[in-house]
Amino acid sequence: MTETENTRIVLASRPEGRPTPANFRLERAPMPSLGDGQVLLKTLYLSLDPYMRGRMSAAKSYAAPVEIGQVMEGGTVAEVVESRDAAFKPGDIVLSYSGWQSHAAVSAKGLRKLDPQAAPVTTALGVLGMPGFTAYAGLLTIGQPKPGETLVVAAASGPVGSAVGQIARLKGARAVGIAGGPEKCAFVRETFGFDEVIDHRDPQMADKLAAACPGGIDVYFENVGGHVWDAVFPLFNSFARIPVCGLVAQYNATGAFPGPDRLPLLMRDILSKSLTIRGFIQREFVPTQGKAFQEEMTRWVAEGAIRYKEDIVEGLENAPEALIGLLEGKNFGKLIVKV
Ligand code: NDP
Repeated sequence: MTETENTRIVLASRPEGRPTPANFRLERAPMPSLGDGQVLLKTLYLSLDPYMRGRMSAAKSYAAPVEIGQVMEGGTVAEVVESRDAAFKPGDIVLSYSGWQSHAAVSAKGLRKLDPQAAPVTTALGVLGMPGFTAYAGLLTIGQPKPGETLVVAAASGPVGSAVGQIARLKGARAVGIAGGPEKCAFVRETFGFDEVIDHRDPQMADKLAAACPGGIDVYFENVGGHVWDAVFPLFNSFARIPVCGLVAQYNATGAFPGPDRLPLLMRDILSKSLTIRGFIQREFVPTQGKAFQEEMTRWVAEGAIRYKEDIVEGLENAPEALIGLLEGKNFGKLIVKV
């Protein structure tokens, strides 16, 4: 049966703190019509990522917010159902940025054709896509792990953290992961091969982290902030490198952060320990690292040197709950919606 409607999820209102399902609205709209140079896509998989919380907010950031009533943004794997561009034909599978909707008419420019024989197509949203690239480029450019050094990364069961720890080990460093709950911790140790894993919900987390890093921390890949940062911060060695990738523990925060002002202590340690703290948004590294990532990461995944875990939720209508859960650690692996 030919589909005649586009099902889509729009931003209904901006969240105050933790998002709720009421911040989203599911709508049905006429099927988009095609212009020259465009293709009609049917979404197969939608990537859910922590940055989407930022797009729901009007606060100034590195990217413009999604407007109220606009389709939520997101990376997708989609099938071409109609094409008015010579480079694409019906049946092609592509990587797109067509958002939270079942169909989209998009410019053929900027689409990347995927080869389902080369790797499962969902990997283009995770280990071989934006999160994997974030780990690769942020770690190798800023973190620069060396043999014998100790690296710490939190959200270690997710697509960024799991790749960071595994790449660090390929470079000869020790990888210490931080994850939420015993099931995730066991997976990070046994499947991703981290040397040590600490549960950040354990009241003894700070002591256990110190014991797991007897020689201090040389690279801390910052994914979360919050109480994990407080435990990591006293353990930095001189010349430690800290790529600041994400602060997911803070994304739902409203008002001031709890606890004392840590800035004077941080400044003291930046000076006295010669720390390098460098934030980044992954796309800045695409021109310099994009090609090397595709070649090296594809090889590592094919060889089994880098492993990955996906958490696939069925049904576009379940995307809002899944994104809300992602910000609280309810996902277990790269969160993807099968549309
Ligand atoms: P994940 O799939 O790992 O999901 C986020 C995880 O964060 C949760 O599963 C949870 O894991 C953990 N978490 C949530 N709240 C807390 C908390 N309060 N304390 C500790 N851990 C918490 O996400 P990604 O791998 O996609 O992303 C990881 C980070 O990288 C995010 O901060 C994201 O914003 C950032 N990022 C940055 C990019 C850039 O260009 N700078 C690009 C892509 C991602 P657990 O249950 O283990 O605690």
